[in-house]
Amino acid sequence: DLLVVGSANADLVIGVERRPAAGETVLGGDLAVHPGGKGANQAVAAARLGARTALLARVGDDAYGRLLLDSQRAAGVDTVGMLVGGAPTGVALITVDPSGDNSIVVSPGANGRLTPVDVRAAGCLFHTSRVVSAQLEIPLETVEEVVRQLPPEARFVLNPSPPRPLPTAVLAACDPLIVNEHEAKVILGEAAVSITSDDPEDWVRLLLAKGPRSVVVTLGAEGALVASSKEVARIPSVPVTAVDTTGAGDSFTAALAWKLGTGASLTEAAAYAARVGAAAVTRRGAQESFPTAEEVESLCCA
Ligand code: ADP
Repeated sequence: DLLVVGSANADLVIGVERRPAAGETVLGGDLAVHPGGKGANQAVAAARLGARTALLARVGDDAYGRLLLDSQRAAGVDTVGMLVGGAPTGVALITVDPSGDNSIVVSPGANGRLTPVDVRAAGCLFHTSRVVSAQLEIPLETVEEVVRQLPPEARFVLNPSPPRPLPTAVLAACDPLIVNEHEAKVILGEAAVSITSDDPEDWVRLLLAKGPRSVVVTLGAEGALVASSKEVARIPSVPVTAVDTTGAGDSFTAALAWKLGTGASLTEAAAYAARVGAAAVTRRGAQESFPTAEEVESLCCA
């Protein structure tokens, strides 16, 4: 089973002719409300593929919290670990102009109140999980507690987004650490300065030296690189017509985490995740764009 520990947000999206300047009011189109947040997205992505998935997250006792609970249940996610209250549900206020450029204000709300105590209280969810997946839209001390609670046989997958420098104990638990190029730079910090080539393999080697057991660097339409102490492998992307890349990283991470739990090697899991990520970019939105296992199959045979 897969346990996702992370954020749940309501994404409030308004299309505008142009984004407002300070002190200005502009009229926009109709409001669209979508369930989002990296934790909620990963849980839905995995469940849609057929994974037995639970989400440990916190939402507010409000309408957006109920939207998030309902959307997780509708996708088949076990919501026993979804805690309610403490602050309003996390929200992302998103304005999008006709060119597709957006401006986003995030209120973490209840996500910021998911505490180490909540993690300890969810012990039973950890004991039934082969893989635990986390991101950084919740407090870092909560992620540190997740690492402490991992059962010895469970695997920990981390996408450090939004990125910040990580404690040694968290890095050492990652198997793999999954980053895009921007996240890689922040995690490497000072070490990134020494990189002179554009070759992502150089990044991978420096990231491995930081202590994770394995590393995956996602490269958008260029696919991904996977690396452990044993091997470095390139994972080609699946050629598709990209419509909207929102959620590609979340669906990639969820698919990879789930496949690892079924006994796949890191390379096999990443190849499957690349197909899932490719399928997700062919449709608009985040959770709406995540494919079923059948859709992933038909994509690879096209
Ligand atoms: P993030 O959203 O975290 O930056 P990426 O954009 O690197 O993540 O996307 C994650 C994965 O999704 C990629 O490694 C790739 O396998 C797949 N993917 C993303 N964009 C495309 C694309 N345009 N065509 C095919 N696959 C893609």
